[in-house]
Amino acid sequence: MRTITLIILHCSGIKPEQRSSARQIDQWHRAKGWQGIGYHYVVRRSGTVEVGRPETKAGAHCQGHNRHSIGICYEGGLDAQGRPADTRTDRQKEALHLLIKDLKKRYPKALVVGHNVFNKYKACPCFDAAKEYMNM
Ligand SMILES: [Zn+2]
Repeated sequence: MRTITLIILHCSGIKPEQRSSARQIDQWHRAKGWQGIGYHYVVRRSGTVEVGRPETKAGAHCQGHNRHSIGICYEGGLDAQGRPADTRTDRQKEALHLLIKDLKKRYPKALVVGHNVFNKYKACPCFDAAKEYMNM
Protein backbone atom coordinates (compact mmCIF):
# COMPACT_ATOMS: atom_id res chain seq x y z
CA MET A 1 0.00 0.00 0.00
CA ARG A 2 1.15 3.52 -0.78
CA THR A 3 1.10 6.10 1.98
CA ILE A 4 -0.94 9.03 0.74
CA THR A 5 -0.14 12.38 2.31
CA LEU A 6 -1.30 14.67 -0.49
CA ILE A 7 -4.26 15.06 -2.81
CA ILE A 8 -3.03 17.32 -5.59
CA LEU A 9 -5.42 19.25 -7.82
CA HIS A 10 -4.73 20.02 -11.46
CA CYS A 11 -6.47 21.45 -14.49
CA SER A 12 -6.05 19.98 -17.96
CA GLY A 13 -5.03 23.39 -19.36
CA ILE A 14 -7.56 23.59 -22.16
CA LYS A 15 -9.81 26.33 -23.54
CA PRO A 16 -13.62 26.27 -23.19
CA GLU A 17 -14.24 24.81 -26.63
CA GLN A 18 -11.72 22.01 -26.12
CA ARG A 19 -12.25 18.61 -24.51
CA SER A 20 -10.01 16.38 -22.41
CA SER A 21 -11.31 12.97 -21.41
CA ALA A 22 -9.19 10.57 -19.37
CA ARG A 23 -8.67 8.69 -22.61
CA GLN A 24 -7.38 11.78 -24.44
CA ILE A 25 -5.09 12.71 -21.58
CA ASP A 26 -3.84 9.12 -21.61
CA GLN A 27 -2.86 9.62 -25.25
CA TRP A 28 -1.21 12.99 -24.54
CA HIS A 29 0.85 11.50 -21.74
CA ARG A 30 1.81 8.41 -23.76
CA ALA A 31 2.99 10.77 -26.50
CA LYS A 32 5.37 12.26 -23.91
CA GLY A 33 6.77 8.79 -23.36
CA TRP A 34 4.97 8.24 -20.02
CA GLN A 35 3.28 5.01 -19.03
CA GLY A 36 -0.21 6.33 -19.70
CA ILE A 37 -2.28 8.96 -17.94
CA GLY A 38 -0.46 10.58 -15.03
CA TYR A 39 -3.59 11.48 -13.02
CA HIS A 40 -5.72 9.15 -10.93
CA TYR A 41 -8.98 10.95 -11.70
CA VAL A 42 -10.31 13.30 -14.34
CA VAL A 43 -13.41 15.39 -13.60
CA ARG A 44 -15.17 16.35 -16.82
CA ARG A 45 -17.11 19.60 -17.31
CA SER A 46 -20.28 17.51 -17.03
CA GLY A 47 -19.29 16.41 -13.55
CA THR A 48 -18.51 12.88 -14.68
CA VAL A 49 -15.54 11.42 -12.86
CA GLU A 50 -13.28 9.28 -15.05
CA VAL A 51 -10.70 6.96 -13.60
CA GLY A 52 -7.14 7.34 -14.80
CA ARG A 53 -4.27 5.54 -13.14
CA PRO A 54 -5.24 3.15 -10.33
CA GLU A 55 -4.79 4.65 -6.87
CA THR A 56 -2.43 1.83 -5.97
CA LYS A 57 0.06 3.11 -8.54
CA ALA A 58 2.14 6.27 -8.20
CA GLY A 59 0.98 8.98 -10.57
CA ALA A 60 2.95 11.23 -12.91
CA HIS A 61 1.56 14.69 -12.24
CA CYS A 62 3.74 16.54 -9.73
CA GLN A 63 7.50 16.22 -9.74
CA GLY A 64 8.90 15.01 -6.44
CA HIS A 65 5.47 14.23 -4.96
CA ASN A 66 4.07 11.41 -7.07
CA ARG A 67 4.95 8.57 -4.77
CA HIS A 68 2.76 9.73 -1.89
CA SER A 69 -0.07 11.54 -3.63
CA ILE A 70 -3.30 11.20 -5.56
CA GLY A 71 -3.63 13.42 -8.63
CA ILE A 72 -6.98 14.85 -9.69
CA CYS A 73 -7.40 16.82 -12.90
CA TYR A 74 -10.46 18.86 -13.81
CA GLU A 75 -11.24 19.50 -17.44
CA GLY A 76 -10.53 23.15 -18.24
CA GLY A 77 -8.28 25.79 -16.72
CA LEU A 78 -7.98 28.30 -19.58
CA ASP A 79 -10.35 31.03 -20.75
CA ALA A 80 -11.19 31.63 -24.42
CA GLN A 81 -8.00 33.69 -24.84
CA GLY A 82 -5.87 30.92 -23.39
CA ARG A 83 -5.27 32.66 -20.06
CA PRO A 84 -5.29 30.66 -16.81
CA ALA A 85 -8.80 30.75 -15.30
CA ASP A 86 -10.94 28.86 -12.83
CA THR A 87 -13.37 27.43 -15.37
CA ARG A 88 -14.94 24.79 -13.11
CA THR A 89 -18.64 24.30 -13.74
CA ASP A 90 -21.08 23.85 -10.84
CA ARG A 91 -21.23 20.15 -11.65
CA GLN A 92 -17.46 19.90 -11.61
CA LYS A 93 -17.31 21.65 -8.24
CA GLU A 94 -19.90 19.25 -6.88
CA ALA A 95 -18.10 16.20 -8.28
CA LEU A 96 -14.73 17.41 -7.00
CA HIS A 97 -16.22 17.94 -3.56
CA LEU A 98 -17.63 14.39 -3.43
CA LEU A 99 -14.46 12.84 -4.82
CA ILE A 100 -12.23 14.65 -2.34
CA LYS A 101 -14.60 13.80 0.51
CA ASP A 102 -14.36 10.13 -0.42
CA LEU A 103 -10.57 10.27 -0.71
CA LYS A 104 -10.26 12.04 2.65
CA LYS A 105 -12.31 9.26 4.22
CA ARG A 106 -9.81 6.73 2.95
CA TYR A 107 -6.70 8.88 3.44
CA PRO A 108 -7.61 11.00 6.47
CA LYS A 109 -4.15 12.51 6.85
CA ALA A 110 -3.86 13.68 3.26
CA LEU A 111 -3.66 17.42 2.65
CA VAL A 112 -5.49 18.86 -0.33
CA VAL A 113 -3.36 21.28 -2.34
CA GLY A 114 -3.04 22.73 -5.81
CA HIS A 115 -0.20 21.89 -8.20
CA ASN A 116 0.94 25.54 -8.10
CA VAL A 117 1.97 25.10 -4.45
CA PHE A 118 4.90 22.99 -5.68
CA ASN A 119 5.66 24.78 -8.90
CA LYS A 120 5.52 28.55 -8.77
CA TYR A 121 5.81 28.78 -12.54
CA LYS A 122 2.49 27.02 -12.99
CA ALA A 123 -0.97 28.53 -12.50
CA CYS A 124 -2.50 25.04 -12.35
CA PRO A 125 -5.19 24.43 -11.08
CA CYS A 126 -6.06 28.16 -11.36
CA PHE A 127 -7.77 28.41 -7.96
CA ASP A 128 -6.66 28.14 -4.33
CA ALA A 129 -7.31 24.44 -3.73
CA ALA A 130 -5.80 24.38 -0.23
CA LYS A 131 -8.10 27.18 0.88
CA GLU A 132 -11.22 25.77 -0.76
CA TYR A 133 -10.83 22.24 0.61
CA MET A 134 -9.23 23.19 3.92
CA ASN A 135 -12.08 21.94 6.10
CA MET A 136 -12.74 18.65 4.40
ZN1 LIG B 1 -0.98 20.56 -12.78
